[in-house]
Amino acid sequence: MNLYEFEGKSLFEKYDIAVPNGVLVRRGDDYAAAYSGLKIADVVVKPQILGGGRGKQGGIRFCTSHEEVARACEELFDADFEGKYVAAVRIEEKVDIAVEHYVSITYDTKFAQPVLVYSARGGVDIETVADEEIQRFLLDVRVGDINVQLAHAKDLKGVRQVCAHVWKCFLNEDVRVIEINPLAELAPRTKFEGARWVALDAKVVLDDDAFYRHKEWGEFEPRTMMGRPPTERETAVAKIDEGEGYYRGTAGKYVELDGDIAVLFSGGGASIASMDALKTHGLSPANYTEYSGNPPREKVRELAKMVLSKPGLRGLWIAGGVANFTDVAETFAGICDALDEVKPSYPIVVRRAGPNEEEGMRLMRECGERHGLRMKLFGKEVGIGETAKVLAEMVKE
Ligand code: GDP
Ligand code: MN
Repeated sequence: MNLYEFEGKSLFEKYDIAVPNGVLVRRGDDYAAAYSGLKIADVVVKPQILGGGRGKQGGIRFCTSHEEVARACEELFDADFEGKYVAAVRIEEKVDIAVEHYVSITYDTKFAQPVLVYSARGGVDIETVADEEIQRFLLDVRVGDINVQLAHAKDLKGVRQVCAHVWKCFLNEDVRVIEINPLAELAPRTKFEGARWVALDAKVVLDDDAFYRHKEWGEFEPRTMMGRPPTERETAVAKIDEGEGYYRGTAGKYVELDGDIAVLFSGGGASIASMDALKTHGLSPANYTEYSGNPPREKVRELAKMVLSKPGLRGLWIAGGVANFTDVAETFAGICDALDEVKPSYPIVVRRAGPNEEEGMRLMRECGERHGLRMKLFGKEVGIGETAKVLAEMVKE
């Protein structure tokens, strides 16, 4: 799960990683009053989106009066950041930066270990920093303390301390990615004072598989990978697995899209390729849905009903490769239950193989005959992509 900047920053505070003072406003709040309450003249106004690059998109506003803050908030709530939903705006203390550093910890897939990445050249252009100026350290999850030999930083003690806190946060909070860019090094205010370190930005991704030991994560506001709040259908589908132990098969994923062809895929990789095949044949998906892992009939029925409930559908594509262990008859029985209720008038194309495929296809054929559905069935002798073409032709008829 991706966190908004303000959520990441409140996590940082728990681990003694300093962040600027700030206040969060929601759409329609009294922005000027929130600013006055901060009692700080120079502020930065930042949209809260699930994604970065705000600086480059004109999303970071420096303001010095309540009129400016109010205008910035209004503009940011209306602005389009590559289609990402602006959940809130954070108004925070503007700090004077001496140097922008970069710190992150994430998993290195090659070494199967967390890796700390540090550079004294952070900021909005981190992607263009030369490799020699970026340092990487593999970390050991069994060791809570880290001792990294950083070069390039003037105040090594300070940056090392931040890294130690970031590591603690990473371990304790079951984090997948934690990135502070920029980690600001502030100029000393007097010659007797050392540099101070403040996290000006926060990108945190939590490990969804650790949800069971973080009840507090349930309090985060709902979100989707699309950077917008979940739709009613998405929320309904997420409920199908609620309260379920891990191994009873999951209903699957449902992401609502703008098109008009409903899809029920099985198999992760194949389902993504199938989305492409649909587009290639001029069709546009109404949803992305993938069920696999052998869900029981009742769950597939609920999932399929939700997929079919979208208004304005012009076709249904039920597609998957040759299943390894997902029971085709069991899952098709669930889809047939939904078709029995909905009885769609639009064309339906099925392509599937695997355990109990004959029984599954028989159920599907009988369901089609029962309601006079416009349905075509294919097994493994026809490629998945080819059946998208069949559906495209049926939709055009
Ligand atoms: P991002 O573009 O979405 O990653 O947003 P950031 O929060 O990282 O802000 C982008 C850039 O804005 C930073 O790299 C800084 O250069 C600048 N910035 C953000 N906050 C402050 C601040 O408090 N003071 C100053 N001087 N610059 C800031
Ligand atoms: Mn940033």
